[in-house]
Formats: sequence, C-alpha cells, structure tokens
Amino acid sequence: MARYTEALCRVCRRENTKLFLKGDRCYANKCAFERRAHAPGQHGSRRGKLSDYGLQLREKQKVKRTYGLLEKQFRALFEKAERQKGVTGANLLILLERRLDNIVYRMGFASSRGQARQLVCHGHFLVNDRKVDIPSYLVKGGDWITLREKSRKNIYIQQSMETVARRGTPRWLELDKAAFQGKIKELPVREDLTMPISEQLIVELYSK
Ligand code: SF4
Repeated sequence: MARYTEALCRVCRRENTKLFLKGDRCYANKCAFERRAHAPGQHGSRRGKLSDYGLQLREKQKVKRTYGLLEKQFRALFEKAERQKGVTGANLLILLERRLDNIVYRMGFASSRGQARQLVCHGHFLVNDRKVDIPSYLVKGGDWITLREKSRKNIYIQQSMETVARRGTPRWLELDKAAFQGKIKELPVREDLTMPISEQLIVELYSK
C-alpha cells in the first residue's frame, strides 16, 4: 500500500496549520507546529505571498494530507463528487468524511486517521456485522461499525477510547463505548464539518 513517508509534523508546518496527524501528541505542548509555526527548510520562515494557483494548490494539499490520501485517490474522489448532485466541493468533503478510516477515527477507536487506516487494514472492524478491511470503504447512514471481539484488548484502541471525550463525537455519529460500537445516525452535511477548508479553491484547481 502506497503511503506518505515524510515526517508528519513537517506536513503541518508546510500547510501552515495543525492537521492533527499524530494523535495525542497534537494536543500536547510537544506539537511541532506550536513550537515552530513556519514552513520546514532553510528558508521556511520566509513565506512569500502566494499566487491564486499557489493558494488553490495548498488548499488541495492540506485537505488531501489531512485525510491521508495520495493524489490519485483524491482525484478519483473528486471526480465522484463531480458526478453527484449538488455542490461539488461539499460533496467532496462529505465523501472524505464517509471513508471508513475517517469514521473509525471520528468515533474514537483510533487517535489519528493514520492509525485508523492501519487498524482497518488489519481487519479489526465490522460494518453491519461483516468484516471490512478497506479504509476507503464509504459508509452509509444507518450503518453500524463494531470493533471485533478479539480486538477489544488492543492497547492502542483502548488508549484512544480513553481520550475520545477530548475530541468529542460529531453530531451525526453515535458511540456506545461499552458495546465497542457506533452508528452513522445520518450522513454529515457541509455545516457539520468545522475544519477551516475553502473547498471552492480545490474545485477551481481541478477545473483548470
Ligand atoms: Fe501536526 Fe500533530 Fe505534529 Fe502538531 S504534533 S505538527 S498537529 S502532526
């Protein structure tokens, strides 16, 4: 499976925002972005003014890296969003949120999307009682996500579940910690996604 190998904190510094890629460390005072909020590299502290293209590119990179996708996967999701009814940018963000690895992270079974992706790949979760090990699997409203019985003692999952309250569970998800399962109450709408994202810039970039 292709994946990013760059140091994750450098990605936040490059995108000039916290992307929360490292789980608990992102909430501690060890966060590299809080200590050095400038781009990595020798001339990183001299951020010049970006062109329109630069702004569009950075916004796309920011969203793509937040969800941990590679360019090909991100582009394919964008094309799927274009084919759907409604506003393409909002469709894209909702598709990203519907990915199983994101849902596992949002429900608190993992402390980062990267960890969630690994847990899904290793087959720790059931969707509607069937094992699903594909991180890009798109959930639907009403789906149940359950941690498999044999995975409930997994130390990483237990640690994440202890800190889930700090991140909070989104309105559109329901979590039953005692039963190690959660439900997609309904699919999110654009207003549910509070991260500062200008998705229109991504639409403009891909429409060139
Ligand atoms: Fe980003 Fe987390 Fe590293 Fe901070 S600790 S720079 S939020 S990955």
